Amino acid sequence: MDPYRLPRHVLPTHYDLRLEPDLQTCSFSGQETVTLTVCEATREILLNAIELTILSASLVNDAGQKLVPVVQLEEATERCLLMFSTPVAPGTWKLQLAFQGTLNSKLRGFYRSQYKDPSGAVRLLAATQFEATDARRAFPCWDEPDFKAVFAPTLAFAPELTAVSNTAIVGETIQDGKKIVRFADTIPMSTYLVAFIVGELEATEPTFIGRTPLRVWCVPGKRRLARFGQEIGAFSLGLYEQYYGRAYPGDKLDLLAIPDFAAGAMENFGAITFRETALLVDDQAATHAEQERVADVVAHENAHMWFGDLVTMAWWNGLWLNEAFATFMEMLAVDAWKPEWQRWTTFGVSRAAALAVDGLHSTRPIEYPVAAPHDADAMFDVLTYEKGASVLRMLEQYLGPEVFRAGVRAYLQRHAFGNTETGDLWRALGDAAKQPIPEILDGWVFRSGYPLLSVRLEGDRLVLTQQRFAYLPFDADDEERKQRWRVPVQVRLTANGKTSTQRLLLEETETRLDRPAGFESVLVNEQGHGFYRVHYATDLLERLLRVPDDLAPIERFNLVNDCWAATLAGLMPLQAYLEVTAHFRAERDKNVWTVLTSSLVALNRIIRTEDRPGLEALVRDRAGAAGAELGWLARPGESELTRQLRGDLLRTLGTLGNDQDIQAKAAELYAAHLHGSAAVDANVLAAVIAILAHTGGAERYDEFWRRFRSATTPQEEQRYLYALAGFREAELLENTLAKTLSGDVRTQDAPFVVQKLLMSVYGRDLAWRFLKDHWDEMNRTFPTTGIRRMCDGVVGLATPEYERDVRNFFEQRRIDLGGKTLQQYLEQLHIAVRLRQREERVLHEYLVSFAQA
Ligand SMILES: [Zn+2]
Repeated sequence: MDPYRLPRHVLPTHYDLRLEPDLQTCSFSGQETVTLTVCEATREILLNAIELTILSASLVNDAGQKLVPVVQLEEATERCLLMFSTPVAPGTWKLQLAFQGTLNSKLRGFYRSQYKDPSGAVRLLAATQFEATDARRAFPCWDEPDFKAVFAPTLAFAPELTAVSNTAIVGETIQDGKKIVRFADTIPMSTYLVAFIVGELEATEPTFIGRTPLRVWCVPGKRRLARFGQEIGAFSLGLYEQYYGRAYPGDKLDLLAIPDFAAGAMENFGAITFRETALLVDDQAATHAEQERVADVVAHENAHMWFGDLVTMAWWNGLWLNEAFATFMEMLAVDAWKPEWQRWTTFGVSRAAALAVDGLHSTRPIEYPVAAPHDADAMFDVLTYEKGASVLRMLEQYLGPEVFRAGVRAYLQRHAFGNTETGDLWRALGDAAKQPIPEILDGWVFRSGYPLLSVRLEGDRLVLTQQRFAYLPFDADDEERKQRWRVPVQVRLTANGKTSTQRLLLEETETRLDRPAGFESVLVNEQGHGFYRVHYATDLLERLLRVPDDLAPIERFNLVNDCWAATLAGLMPLQAYLEVTAHFRAERDKNVWTVLTSSLVALNRIIRTEDRPGLEALVRDRAGAAGAELGWLARPGESELTRQLRGDLLRTLGTLGNDQDIQAKAAELYAAHLHGSAAVDANVLAAVIAILAHTGGAERYDEFWRRFRSATTPQEEQRYLYALAGFREAELLENTLAKTLSGDVRTQDAPFVVQKLLMSVYGRDLAWRFLKDHWDEMNRTFPTTGIRRMCDGVVGLATPEYERDVRNFFEQRRIDLGGKTLQQYLEQLHIAVRLRQREERVLHEYLVSFAQA
């Protein structure tokens, strides 16, 4: 039997839960009465608990029987065993437990968060983060998603504080100098969705969506930053009620910004918690990307109220049922809210991130076995979220949006308050579509990887073939390489100046289309919804590159992205890729620039130091014209996407391109901004800060540090903090590294600073040594999710010498980041090193010619 799973002969139905957090002593005490259905006579009851002290336990029933068990905590499996001297008879029992614990600093379970009030004094609040398996750190419970039960919490705390939980308050009294707040019963739900937040909190006035009041909560002094989040919160909730055909299932909805928060946000039912940058924003002073982040996260969490909270996966292997849907719905809602943001086009960047990981041998299927808690935590990755959402989008486009929605409604209707497997979703969608879904989708969800579609001309035919894409070659006998998919393909043919679309389901290895008379070009994956890559024969690629403007932005994005992937995989020579980039000097879509720039950043990590001026010249050659045309000033009436692109290009030119004119102008503009004599667009200001870090010395460093400490919005704070990783002088970067463990930087952010330094060609050597020297301290201090993200930075250590050292370190320390996370990082590192070894000479010659030009 799996030591991490609980037996099913005892089922909780109701938790009466009372918790008393004490912010002075950073501890809490608790009592609970759990109503249980005992299905068969037993001498043992098993539930989950960890880092709790159980003070007393007893079991009673309506007949007045009382049994007192021996309690044994099993630390390794995070379980609590209750052993009874006589068998507990089948029927209904009430388990009464008293316990106590610590408000920890690790941002999980019931934890403490620190902030400064408007006067500068340090304050604490208590908050919870239970997903995946940390409710057991706050109260003993059946901590698996299919043990759904009703929760009736009561909180007792110092009277000057406020408390929020999943439901509305039904009673409030003062007893023995404490405020006692009782909350309404929840819907039947999983333990990981329970939440308590206690502190000096402020709320906005509610917005009503039907009868549901929606508020934003924050620590004192930040309410002015709540409007934007509240707007998208209200908009998306209303949209989902219509889309799902089902009212919001709770009695209120609170969105809470928590100063210390390990993840981005958490969909606790009715009490969603966020890190501050994901909820609070001054939309006049924020970049487009910063606003989009808030809109995305709020819309995502709201979508979970149905997908995840009302209907929940039965076990963590099915996490995608929650996360892929919430990600898909987030796009849908933000796209409806701000159509001018073109959210589905920008989604291409997320899809590309999933394609990158899913092209590794160490990838995993979207659905993947999970046993231990740290493997459940590792499921929160791009495969669950972005690949899952991409596959749903591909299916939605294939079935049609109306049919897809009808299937989603049926699924929610059938399984409300229950738990599901992927098969349940297939059935609901299949009923709506009147066709079997598993045949199309099983290959995308239960198998890893995706196809590469190769396209070539052969006489009067166009030939399409599929094979599994991988960055590194398969062994000849590897069965995975033979995998085939049912691929919904949309092809656009241009002939005699006219275009036509063909839709097909590619099932075999190869398919042939007629080459039309007057053939000009063929584009595979029209509109870009497919989760696959396309590799064109050279002549077909040239035909597309001749008129890039004939392609939609997402199609251009995919074209460049697939060429870059082919280069990494050794299917396209690097020189050919560099020539592809030369066709995009006139590009005006920010997503296309994102992929162009990130490929140049990757090259910067594998070049010889003496080639850097050549690379800088190459960057200026590719991005210079677009940057010059957009200039520094936002123009009235231009789109937010253009404003973001302006910032992105300036940043690229001023840092990676080392453009001295841009650097000088950035310094000038920044000074004018500080004196209040220039209104600088937020997107430009963010770029200017990055550029000034790149060129800055000790004085600038100290200034940015002060500005980080005195920032008035979460976004401003983050900009200056990350800028501290963007300097080039070793001494300054050592300073930044030291600060990550000094208590001056929040533990929610510090791992990301280290990650950025590992990715920086100026910081990676220092950061890698620092990581090795301080590994144990980092593990004691940083949240586990932060450690996992931080280690992603080793991909930046792209030399054979570093690679050996990285492998040795992780092996010798026996480090496991959960699931396949570490193998994925190491494989990505190896791919970069191989590119270096394969192309170093060609790249050197190419860049020498640029440096001389
Ligand atoms: Zn989510």
